[in-house]
Amino acid sequence: MGSMQTVIPKILVIDDVHANLKAMRVLLKDIAAEVMTADSGNNGLALALEEHVTLILLDVNMPGMDGFEVAQLLGEMEETRHIPIIFITAFQNDEEKRLKGYSAGAIDYIQKPVNPDILLSKIHIFLNMWTLRFGLEQEISRRREVEKEIEYLAQHDALTHLPNRRQLHIEIERLIDRTTRTKEKFAVLFLDLDGFKRINDELGHEAGDAFLRDVADRFREQIRSFDVIARYGGDEFIILLSDLSDSLALTNRLRQLTAQAQLPFCWEGNDLSAGVSIGISVFPDHGTDGDTLIKRADAAMYLAKDAGKNTFRFYTDDLNKSLQRRLLLERHIQDSLSNDELDVFYQPIVNIHDGLPVGAESLLRWNSSDLGRVSPAEFIPVAENCGMIQQLGIWVLRQSVATMQQCPGIAFSVNASALQFNDNNLCAELISLLESGSLAADKTAIEITEGLLLSNTGDVDARLEKIRQMGIGLSIDDFGTGYSALGYLKRCPVNRIKIDRTFVAGIPEDTESVALVQAIIAMGHALGLEVIAEGVETEQQWHFLRDERCDMAQGYYFSPPLPQQEFIEYLQCSR
Ligand code: C2E
Ligand code: MG
Ligand code: MG
Repeated sequence: MGSMQTVIPKILVIDDVHANLKAMRVLLKDIAAEVMTADSGNNGLALALEEHVTLILLDVNMPGMDGFEVAQLLGEMEETRHIPIIFITAFQNDEEKRLKGYSAGAIDYIQKPVNPDILLSKIHIFLNMWTLRFGLEQEISRRREVEKEIEYLAQHDALTHLPNRRQLHIEIERLIDRTTRTKEKFAVLFLDLDGFKRINDELGHEAGDAFLRDVADRFREQIRSFDVIARYGGDEFIILLSDLSDSLALTNRLRQLTAQAQLPFCWEGNDLSAGVSIGISVFPDHGTDGDTLIKRADAAMYLAKDAGKNTFRFYTDDLNKSLQRRLLLERHIQDSLSNDELDVFYQPIVNIHDGLPVGAESLLRWNSSDLGRVSPAEFIPVAENCGMIQQLGIWVLRQSVATMQQCPGIAFSVNASALQFNDNNLCAELISLLESGSLAADKTAIEITEGLLLSNTGDVDARLEKIRQMGIGLSIDDFGTGYSALGYLKRCPVNRIKIDRTFVAGIPEDTESVALVQAIIAMGHALGLEVIAEGVETEQQWHFLRDERCDMAQGYYFSPPLPQQEFIEYLQCSR
């Protein structure tokens, strides 16, 4: 048992005869208790109400209010009903009166004239009992407090003091129960801070923690007392909003949340600001259990991030379908290599003047035994997402090199994902292929996207530089669709641009496309770059591009992407 609070018990003696009170005081002087006296029932009641009395010695025969009446009144009052009473009485062996006393609350009787030994031993027994009970009560209340604290810690996040993930699930279940009964709706908001990682990385965890606490407080202030906010993970929060009868009020609240997250946060003189992306799912429209609702709000949150951050998006069924599909692809693509479901097709790239093949672009094909043919536009992002793209990229490169050996004089262009420039694998593979003599540098090019060039990290630039130093070509794919800043074209080491097929498609009717294609060709040449047109589908387009002095062309008009064998035959036919 823990340390016990020592409290001195109080004994209240009620007797109308002063001499008796005096005698009692003398008798009780060695007892470890404080003795109080009252000379009437009324005074006794008043004292019992005021003081925390442990035990009452009550004279039965008193004028006015007798002992029984006093006991009865004590028993009727909340504050005094638990106080034990020992009656001091003159009558002997009167069973009826004895019973009356017990029913009025007496725990014992002492006969007059009082035998001191009997009285003292009874009081001792009682006080011992009281001490034990008092200790027990203290222990119980101490344990209750500890339990409460443990419960609090189990339900709350230590940093922000918000309910944690576990408690959130309990709250959601509760809300589901309630809203099912009332046939109402509630919203699950998945909040993910934008730019939190930067604060953490640049200013340290202490700043990160302070920021999280600050944001948590701001969010908490935005919700009503019956809403729930919980910390879900690092910089993720979940808010449960019930009572969605007013959709305008909901969007206003969402706007307030994003506004709050953007308010500057001061740390050691720096004014920081972040933002928050919010995804929303609604019960029961988007799910009828907590896990589904959270998962879907999370998915919608990614939509908000894609939409430019610090905004909100609702979950939609389309999102659900595309998510399901993504998960399916992710599961199956892992085994595509070992199941031999992949292939590389080669699309001829022709010289613009005579339309004869000078090169080819390697395009990955996946024919899944379970899902059938899946377009690279669909599975490449999935492979990027699940970390398979490096492996696939290297595989395509090796296949292309093998085909290259059978096609002397033809240049091969291989697509590389931006992620392949995050490490040295691609460069290392190219070096080893060069050294083994299986790859001709001047007949090889890597296609990259504009986005990669904008990533602006030293490592990426160094790797691009290295590839050019090996004598391998670098093309910017889908040129014109990214956020082209002309500045980077001058400083980055690319030697080719591929005009995106959406511009070529507008030739020659769409004046804007025409103007763009002309401008891209002129600018490319001014910078000393070769220009390839993608997606050439008609003779008219070809001739237009030729007249505009574009260098090469690729598209269905010349040939679709072909399997290796057919590509080799195509080359032989066009000689
Ligand atoms: P991309 O690099 O821009 O490839 C050109 C795409 O245009 C190919 O689509 C090709 O089949 C298509 N195409 C060619 N000529 C025409 C035409 O005349 N009209 C039309 N409408 N389309 C034409 P595909 O093969 O479906 O590939 C889609 C994208 O997937 C590629 O676009 C590329 O970004 C990516 N990709 C393909 N293979 C790989 C790979 O091995 N690695 C990486 N990282 N990405 C790849
Ligand atoms: Mg390409
Ligand atoms: Mg392209």
